[in-house]
Amino acid sequence: MQKQAAINYSERNFQPVVEKCEGCERIVEEADSQFCQSYLKPESKWRLGICNFATHAKPEIKVVTIRINPLKAAKRASAQKI
Ligand code: SF4
Repeated sequence: MQKQAAINYSERNFQPVVEKCEGCERIVEEADSQFCQSYLKPESKWRLGICNFATHAKPEIKVVTIRINPLKAAKRASAQKI
């Protein structure tokens, strides 16, 4: 039985990672180039925002706190019960 040689990332048309990928754990290095394990074209993953597979960047979730007047809230709640 003959062993198959592993195919390089560059031979599989993988494109090198982009600057925004720096720090991601999915980066693999091969022949002085860095490739993404998951995507052929890392650049396209960043075109519309944050790459959804990035391990080093997460989308920011804004938490908005709304101040509620307790008296008005109680009044509103009691008005809805009727
Ligand atoms: S998973 Fe996304 S951020 Fe990470 S190396 Fe691949 S394309 Fe870049």
